[in-house]
Amino acid sequence: MDESTFRYATACHCAGCPDPPRFQVAAPWSYGPLRELKNYGLACERHREAVLDRARQHREALKVGDDETVGPVEVYEFAPGHRDSALPLSPGSGR
Ligand SMILES: [Zn+2]
Repeated sequence: MDESTFRYATACHCAGCPDPPRFQVAAPWSYGPLRELKNYGLACERHREAVLDRARQHREALKVGDDETVGPVEVYEFAPGHRDSALPLSPGSGR
């Protein structure tokens, strides 16, 4: 994936929030041989739960095709410039 994809996403996903993002909410997605993280949004520390809840609602509403798999939505450390697959899982995100 091209890194420019992330250029729009430099702020927390909550409207009007001025805080820099600390977390990326995403789910592992694969389609045939393709694998990447499906990005559901960025969150600062305060809005982490709100963005995660919204992402999980989106995830539940998502229709998944026959060749497509989507894993659980989790919170990852937001690390600009890292490849998606190298993002460390944020501690304490499992529920
Ligand atoms: Zn925020």
